[in-house]
Amino acid sequence: MAIRVNNIVLDINDCAQDNIDAVKIKAAKIMRVDLSEIKDCRIAKESIDARKKNNIKFNYAISIKMDNEEKVVERANHKDVKLEEVKYDAEFEFGSREMTSRPIIVGMGPAGMFAGLLMAQKGYNPLIIERGEQVEQRTKSINKFWTRAVLNTESNVQFGEGGAGTFSDGKLTTRIKDTRCDFVLDEFVKAGAPGEILYVGKPHIGTDVLKEVVKNIRETIIKLGGEVRFNSKLTDIIIKDKKIKSVIINGEDFPCDNLILAIGHSSRDTYEMLYKKGVFMSSKPFAMGVRIEHPQDMINENQYGKYANHPMLKGADYKLTYTSGKSGRAVYSFCMCPGGQVVGAASEQGRVAINGMSEYKRDKGNANSAIVVSVGPKDFATDDPLSGIEFQRYYESLAYQIGGANYNAPVQLVGDFLRGTVSSELGGIKPSYTPGYKYADLTKCLPSYITDAIKEALPKFDHKINGYAREDAVMTGIETRTSAPVRIDRNENFQSISLEGLFPAGEGAGYAGGIISAAVDGLKIAENIMKNWKSAK
Ligand SMILES: Cc1cc2nc3c(=O)[nH]c(=O)nc-3n(C[C@H](O)[C@H](O)[C@H](O)COP(=O)(O)OP(=O)(O)OC[C@H]3O[C@@H](n4cnc5c(N)ncnc54)[C@H](O)[C@@H]3O)c2cc1C
Repeated sequence: MAIRVNNIVLDINDCAQDNIDAVKIKAAKIMRVDLSEIKDCRIAKESIDARKKNNIKFNYAISIKMDNEEKVVERANHKDVKLEEVKYDAEFEFGSREMTSRPIIVGMGPAGMFAGLLMAQKGYNPLIIERGEQVEQRTKSINKFWTRAVLNTESNVQFGEGGAGTFSDGKLTTRIKDTRCDFVLDEFVKAGAPGEILYVGKPHIGTDVLKEVVKNIRETIIKLGGEVRFNSKLTDIIIKDKKIKSVIINGEDFPCDNLILAIGHSSRDTYEMLYKKGVFMSSKPFAMGVRIEHPQDMINENQYGKYANHPMLKGADYKLTYTSGKSGRAVYSFCMCPGGQVVGAASEQGRVAINGMSEYKRDKGNANSAIVVSVGPKDFATDDPLSGIEFQRYYESLAYQIGGANYNAPVQLVGDFLRGTVSSELGGIKPSYTPGYKYADLTKCLPSYITDAIKEALPKFDHKINGYAREDAVMTGIETRTSAPVRIDRNENFQSISLEGLFPAGEGAGYAGGIISAAVDGLKIAENIMKNWKSAK
């Protein structure tokens, strides 16, 4: 047990890189105890309150260990002093049904990786298969695409060890409230992520560190008795009596009682295979749009005023939302990457899809964010559950064509976009997308209700962030992979509603959005399987 003291506020001018002593003194005062009574303390949460730009504060929650904690809390009688909530407890009773085969996990993204890690920790010896390469080779394949436009359709920004989250900003913020989030963060730190992710308000890891982290988690899984096979694709499932009997991986038949399907949102051929096999799925809404780039300094000045270059502050982020008055559609910033770069995230030949990433330091000159507009099944051509995929494909192909049919991305400056003209030269901001870009009319590769809504939103966003709609802000197209366009429907036991033994997990199942929520979903499913089954002998 420990005591949690919340809302300890320090002025930015009183902050140093390590504020623990100042915070501890304030906490002792709030608890009305002597400093010497505190045996141990650590920062549990640190957030920045920049609502008043010229009066920026740091807000801390601190976790304290001392004698007689319950009595101290009672005596303090203060709204910000509480006994700490119990953390995630991964202890549970295993089920009694014996597995006839080891559990198989498809996909080594956050959902599959964490399901695999927990199962390996519990002695279930899972087999994880991943269509892409392990991270060292995957990095080479991705660099080949970013520098020479040679796309490996099996190993890219979407596919490969660590999943879609590896070549990302590694933002670990989530809206879900689940104690398993702490487990995920703890495991990331054990695998080499910076310790600060355990307490900072907006934790992030960055691609450079993530690559090391996912490799270390793989090694842990293997040490614990799990197996990870790369370049291994699930291409078929064999069904008997509405139950999974076995799976086909690279042409080989593997008996299987429990299949965790953590395939992410971009494995279109796998969705098609599952659909043909009669797995029930439905189409779901997602969002589509462009990436926009500004100087990071401009964002910092907007968010932090005179403190823009303060050593306690890192690259600022933002969140913007608007509802189109004309169409009623939501327009919003998505996956903002401070000091990052726009990246080619295609996974199919002849299509352009982009996204954003950062390294741990977030020290590049441009800030980028997607500006996306909600789309849903009523926008798709048919009622077919896979029609959202065809919708994505159609616009990604248009983007490829107007980008020059060589994986260069179509680019337009905000001023020209708003006037309806194709750009002819850059201003002060250079597009960060590689291998290259071509000036184009972005209205030619997105539905008009998306570009119209973005045109409506940009001046509004400019009121919130001065310069947001500046003439030379760079827009790059197109962002299509914001979340899965398909849901693989499942019941309260996380099992497919149409196929026993199939556990759709994470983002690709349509039940998570982002690294942390996908990882937590994987954990929940692994737990559920282990609560029902004991491991195969
Ligand atoms: C560039 C980029 C930046 C992002 N930035 C962030 C961020 O900062 N913060 C955040 O929270 N989220 C971010 N996301 C989203 C995040 O990456 C996803 O939400 C998350 O990775 C989903 O996890 P998942 O395990 O469900 O699926 P994925 O991570 O997509 O993993 C699925 C894995 O399954 C494999 N697979 C698919 N089909 C098969 C098959 N048939 N056989 C074998 N293997 C298969 C794929 O190769 C893939 O590796 C970003 C995404 C991208 C693309």
